[in-house]
Amino acid sequence: MPNLNPEVTKFLSPQPLPMYIGGRWTKAISGATFETRDPGNGTILARVAAGDVADVEAAVVAAQEAFQKSGWATMPVNDRAVILHRLADLITKHQEILSQIESLDVGKPRGQAAAFDVPHAAQTFRYYADLAVHTRRREPIAVSGFDAHTVRVPYGVCGFIFPWNFPFLLVGWGVAPALAAGNTVVIKPAEDTPLSTLYFAKLAEEAGVPPGVINVVTGLGETAGTALSRHPGLKRMSFTGSPEVGRLIAEACGRNLVPVKLELGGKGAAVIFDDVNVDAVAEALAGAVTLNAGQVCCTATRWLVHEKIRDKFVEKATATLGAMKIGYGADADTNIGPVVSEKQRARVLGYLDKGVKAGARLLLAGGRAEVKGHEQGYYVKPALMTGDPGNVCAREEIFGPVAYVMTFNDEDKVVELVNSSSYGLANSVWSNNLDRANRVAEQMVAGNSWINAHNLFAHGLPYAGCNLSGCGGGVLGPETLSDYLRNQTVARPLG
Ligand code: NAD
Repeated sequence: MPNLNPEVTKFLSPQPLPMYIGGRWTKAISGATFETRDPGNGTILARVAAGDVADVEAAVVAAQEAFQKSGWATMPVNDRAVILHRLADLITKHQEILSQIESLDVGKPRGQAAAFDVPHAAQTFRYYADLAVHTRRREPIAVSGFDAHTVRVPYGVCGFIFPWNFPFLLVGWGVAPALAAGNTVVIKPAEDTPLSTLYFAKLAEEAGVPPGVINVVTGLGETAGTALSRHPGLKRMSFTGSPEVGRLIAEACGRNLVPVKLELGGKGAAVIFDDVNVDAVAEALAGAVTLNAGQVCCTATRWLVHEKIRDKFVEKATATLGAMKIGYGADADTNIGPVVSEKQRARVLGYLDKGVKAGARLLLAGGRAEVKGHEQGYYVKPALMTGDPGNVCAREEIFGPVAYVMTFNDEDKVVELVNSSSYGLANSVWSNNLDRANRVAEQMVAGNSWINAHNLFAHGLPYAGCNLSGCGGGVLGPETLSDYLRNQTVARPLG
């Protein structure tokens, strides 16, 4: 492994890596394990405890006890905020270690993890800790004949299931508001990328989060994930991942009447009008579609280009994509790391084949990439396709560095084309005519409409999907804290 911080080597040394339940580091009750691999060279990074229904049961019980007895739910909100700020400080202090772990496990360029994933997650804890301090927990209700008020209290145990593309960042987005509100949590990270979530639990312990408030059950989706989503002890559930699994989670939660948040996939469009700086937009979108090797739910994968600038745009985009350095995540000059697994690479390559067989044309061929010294890694070249809007590659989420180019010459028709997708996560419009940009932005049906940019995230900017991209309120907004506070009406008749 390349120049690892000694702390990373030490963290990876116990075999298997234990999970964290009730403040204890523990093996799976069954003794089972699974392996997590470095996608940059295919080697095993660690064997990890494979939890199942029994471990999930232990974690939910620990979280219930911590909710009732640890003082986390009832402590003054300022005291909870102090602990969460301490956790954010520790994340910042361990940024290099966390970035290395994330880069090793996901394959992403280390610099990207250090510049975005890790600091953004730390900031998420600060944002919700501060917001919680300034959120009123009691509101008077003015109804004639009553002395009444609303009290806002945490729900109890909240379950979280996360995907593998931004494991550390998404833990922050998910659990920070739940914890700041006073809930306790059980987290099931993706089996491909459990490492940074385990390190997060270690930092939470060091920050003074009481035992049982944060529990991490590592394991497979079909076992640990299913058990968590079906657990009747949950008061809320949050799932980030594919629509297919999202449906199963929603069904399981529906049976227990557990409210559920779903953050699912996307097939984002970028609409590019003919009044833009063509080269700059082509470069920006080439960057967007290759970020995290294209494994970004909200990224722009349908490029709808005004016919007048189409050729110039495609020329610049193919040149930019073609010049990107594909390489190992720890190498400083890497633009595009590997995709997360052999399975994911097969999925991306399979889509290119299916798309071409169905009539799409490759403007930039894409395909398997070889990286010298890392021949066993799961590398993929960026691809640019074009063709009919009905093509499978124009409709379905590929989750790799692949964009599909289509042209337009009419504003209404392009909005129709954007909205023909079953997804509704994020689209962007690019134009120097801001009236038009705002008009189109408001007409595109999705949780997020960005103008002259794609992949925009900030604390306080709500981020959610609609249609096949999710439901339940989203993340990152001030409202997300309220999602984790239950309203209770207290009333007394007067006279
Ligand atoms: P996935 O749905 O296969 O897996 C997500 C998680 O669910 C993993 O932890 C997995 O172990 C677990 N899981 C799998 N089967 C399960 C089951 N039967 N019951 C319970 N849990 C189960 O998704 P993925 O491949 O890990 O991630 C990619 C998907 O996530 C893409 O569709 C992407 O767009 C989406 N995503 C969405 C957002 C968002 O904010 N909207 C963010 C990141 C990723």
